[in-house]
Amino acid sequence: MSGAHTSVPVAARVRRLEERLIGAGVVTQEQLDASLAAMLQGASPVNGARIAARAWSDEGFRQRLLADANAALPEVGLSMAGGIQEQRLKVVENTATTHHVLVCTLCSCYPVGLLGPSPSWYKSEAYRSRVVREPRAVLAEFGLELPDDTAITVWDSSAESRYMVLPRRPGGTAGWSEAELAALVTREGLIGTAAV
Ligand code: FE
Repeated sequence: MSGAHTSVPVAARVRRLEERLIGAGVVTQEQLDASLAAMLQGASPVNGARIAARAWSDEGFRQRLLADANAALPEVGLSMAGGIQEQRLKVVENTATTHHVLVCTLCSCYPVGLLGPSPSWYKSEAYRSRVVREPRAVLAEFGLELPDDTAITVWDSSAESRYMVLPRRPGGTAGWSEAELAALVTREGLIGTAAV
C-alpha cells in the first residue's frame, strides 16, 4: 500500500467518517449498525451463483435480470438495498464473442452482498491497474485463456454502481436443476476471472 492517506489506519478513518455522519444527523449509530449487519448477513457468492443458475434456467428471468437487475433480484429473494443507499447493479452476460471482467480502479467497490467479501487480489494495486491495460494477459494468469477473437470488456465499479458477470452456461448441463447448476458457479466466474 502507498499514498498519503494510508498514514491513518483505515479503521480510524472509517470511525471518524461515522462520527461526522452521525454528528451531522445524516444517519444514526443504530442505522449504521443495522445496515452493516444487513449487508454482511448472508453475503456470499452462493447468492451470485443462485442468480446465475436461475438466469440459465429461466429465460424470462435472464432477460429481466439483464434489463434491470435491481428490479429482478427480489424474484430470487435478494436485493441491493442492504446499504444506506441502494446501489445500481448491472449484470453483464458473457457470450461466445464477448467476455466481461470486473474491477474497481479507484478503490475496491464490489457487490459484497452477492459475492461475499472481495478476494485480496481484487483490492491489489497490480490487479486494478493491469486488468484495464492488459485484460487478456491478466486473465491468462488466472488460467483463463480466451480465444483471440473474443472481445474483453472491463467494467469499472464505483460507489453507486456495481456489476456482476453472468457466466456462460457450461455444456452438458441440459436438464440440470438450479441447485446443481448453482454448484458449478464460482466467485471468480462471477467476477470474470474464470469461465464459470
Ligand atoms: Fe471502489
